[in-house]
Amino acid sequence: MTPMISIGLDVGGTKVLGVAVDPAQPDVVIAEGRVATPDGGDGLVDTLLELVGSLGLVPASIGVGVPGLVDREGTLHMGPHLRRMHDVPLARLLVERVGVPCVVDNDANCHAVAELMGGAAVGATEALMVTLGTGIGAGIITGGALLRGANGFAGEPGHMIVDPNGPPCPCGKRGCWERFASGTGLGRLARDAASGGQLQAAVALAGGDPEAVRGEHVTASARAGDGESHAVLDAFAHWIALGLANLVNVLDPAIIVIGGGLVEAADLVLPEVRSRFAALVMAGEQRPLVPIVPAALGDRAGAIGAALLAVPA
Ligand SMILES: [Zn+2]
Repeated sequence: MTPMISIGLDVGGTKVLGVAVDPAQPDVVIAEGRVATPDGGDGLVDTLLELVGSLGLVPASIGVGVPGLVDREGTLHMGPHLRRMHDVPLARLLVERVGVPCVVDNDANCHAVAELMGGAAVGATEALMVTLGTGIGAGIITGGALLRGANGFAGEPGHMIVDPNGPPCPCGKRGCWERFASGTGLGRLARDAASGGQLQAAVALAGGDPEAVRGEHVTASARAGDGESHAVLDAFAHWIALGLANLVNVLDPAIIVIGGGLVEAADLVLPEVRSRFAALVMAGEQRPLVPIVPAALGDRAGAIGAALLAVPA
């Protein structure tokens, strides 16, 4: 029997990843493709449909994950990391063009659904998914379903303000958690250290320019055994743990799954995150341990989750 195909599209700041899956086997990707993210909302629908066409399969449903505020009708209101994409009624535009069910949701919500149905959070009814990449996204599972809030905007802890006098954020505020605990935040912590004369190993990897140091230079020099790079990663781990402790105090999840680009450095960062989290969370010694684990589905999780969300109930 030919499987029913759902296609999931994960819109990132630079590229869109598309996957085709059989919802009965969400961890098996049948087809996969990538295109560059267009600069502005006008070309987005065309780009997404070109990617769907390139997969060579006729989908029964299409899901799209986007990094921003998406309402319950599938309109993208704003994405701090998407240029010129405001108030795009993406789900309606897609349905008009393809005539199959189309669902548009926040990308971290899609990640959370994928990890819940086929990844690190299988079986959990209370779970927190946090994606650490250019920014920070989150999907909150409570009672076995996504927490959506009144408008569909729930789960944006990246813009919790953790330092009112902190650096400006693309969202327009200052001192948001993602300024400290994302890949961008790690790069900023590293450049602060490098401009003070530290982190020579990472500066060398960045071509000798302290202002060119990014997160991947720090993780590479830490892997090579550089103590100052480990110290920067420990400071970074503190910021991650601080936000997670605040979230656990509010949400009381059974498990925290960490996804996004920083999963590649999970072995370097998560042990320190776990110990600092235990010290920061309320009653850390009295409450059950909250496992903090890396995502299992890698960089396809957002696209797989979008495909699963699009399947009509
Ligand atoms: Zn912000």
